[in-house]
Amino acid sequence: MPYDKNNVFARILRGELPCIKVYEDAQTLAFLDIMPQSDGHTLVLPKEPAVTLLDLSPEGAAACIVVTRRVAAAIQRAVGAPGLLISQFNGEAAGQTVPHVHFHIIPRFPGLKLKPHGREKADPDRLDQIAARITGELMAARG
Ligand code: AMP
Repeated sequence: MPYDKNNVFARILRGELPCIKVYEDAQTLAFLDIMPQSDGHTLVLPKEPAVTLLDLSPEGAAACIVVTRRVAAAIQRAVGAPGLLISQFNGEAAGQTVPHVHFHIIPRFPGLKLKPHGREKADPDRLDQIAARITGELMAARG
């Protein structure tokens, strides 16, 4: 599938649409999912245009997994989650809805079921509060 330059994440990467950013470097961007499946649900994506993980360069894939690991640790502390689900969909048949490769970091809590995927918009103030906690943990980890 050819890369659609106007998919929603491409537009966020170009700054044409807003996002609740928690981390950015030369190769990656991480922001909160606006329809989170649990508190702290975050997406990590490469800046490189690629639809699926298989379209992404090895360097882009390596950058994403390193950042996913770092951001996941900060999320875990920020929301006090004992578990983290890290997932990644490749192609519509697998459930991918936005055609720019991304990793989901989804905090898990015992006995708490996940909300449905990409269905219910969260309260923007609550998302801002959670993002501030995550960025605080990322800064603290850097020392
Ligand atoms: P996927 O099905 O893996 O492609 O997941 C796409 C995810 O992006 C879903 O969890 C959506 O809730 C999320 N999403 C869609 N639009 C936005 C947006 N503008 N900002 C943040 N997250 C979004």
